[in-house]
Amino acid sequence: MNRPYTIATLGSHSALQILKGAHDEGFKTLAISNRETERLYRSFAFVDDVIVLNAYSEFMGLMDELKSRKCIIVPHGSFVAYLSLDEHKKMTIPYFGNKAVLDWEASRELQREWLSRADLKLPRQFKNGSEIDRPVIVKLYGAQGGRGYMFIRDTHDFEARAAHLKEAYTIQEYIIGVPLYIHYFYSPLSNKLEIMSMDRRYETNVDSLGRIPAAAQEGMDVSPSYVVVGNSAVSLRESMLAEALRMGDDVVKVSQEICGPKGLFGAFCIETIITPDIQFYVMEISARIVAGTNLFIDGSPYSYLNYSEPMSTGRRIAREIKNALLTNNLRLVLDDTSVL
Ligand code: ATP
Repeated sequence: MNRPYTIATLGSHSALQILKGAHDEGFKTLAISNRETERLYRSFAFVDDVIVLNAYSEFMGLMDELKSRKCIIVPHGSFVAYLSLDEHKKMTIPYFGNKAVLDWEASRELQREWLSRADLKLPRQFKNGSEIDRPVIVKLYGAQGGRGYMFIRDTHDFEARAAHLKEAYTIQEYIIGVPLYIHYFYSPLSNKLEIMSMDRRYETNVDSLGRIPAAAQEGMDVSPSYVVVGNSAVSLRESMLAEALRMGDDVVKVSQEICGPKGLFGAFCIETIITPDIQFYVMEISARIVAGTNLFIDGSPYSYLNYSEPMSTGRRIAREIKNALLTNNLRLVLDDTSVL
């Protein structure tokens, strides 16, 4: 079945998953790649066409072309990395998602307000080094994938290692527990929230310090770093799933109060650390498909419960757009700046 719209996305991050899902749901597909990745995207049969840019900064110059091809853009993590908030808002091509959420996501302060209103537990923030009364993590603004984050034991350690930093940073209580990233999908058509899958990240070197006994580490001058190397699948203890669902529900509910009635919809991820007393501490929210979902291109145990067929988050997005088209509700799943 061929649909009149083409699903398009930037050729990186989770583009393969998004385009495979779009193809499986009957859409034409377009990857917007650069010279280095062109061959990769052309090599897959489910990618119908590839537009090649010299740099992703040329993306805004493609608008007329994308309009004439009847494209619907599905944003992923690289969109927020390569395009500014302003450029996002200027785009008038059909865009899956609600851009009003971007302001609440981009500011650490607004994001904290949103998450606390949804009754999520957040690590304590410290305004400056002298307030530190427990181990903390110093997080550089705009760092990607945990690069440059520092584990700091106390005020003294802070003065020695972090006080001189030139970049902006936040100081956050260090939560000791298991990092769990929960991937959700909220459907504005059925008003239903689904847990699609979950992953934990594998970070170097913090995830390998446990391989060296603490006694042997003494005097080694090794400090943990948080650079993401990959993701692995996890299934959550079933008794903890109800709270995972509650957190997603409340995040969506509050978003409808703060970002206009459409609120947050489509794919999103709540990044948590679970402590031994089974509390979910929330580090961050990503308001779109995250790269950890790439583990589940063939579906996850959780998506199987709902679909009994392979259902990646990418495919779920295309299914939502398809259902919206079939019921004449396309505007419900697009940002209000979209010109059809
Ligand atoms: P991305 O943008 O790719 O999600 P990021 O740069 O925003 O990454 P975070 O996800 O905030 O980084 O954190 C990276 C890692 O740092 C986490 O996976 C976790 O291991 C560690 N970390 C972050 N905040 C805390 C915290 N409060 N306590 C303990 N560890 C933390």
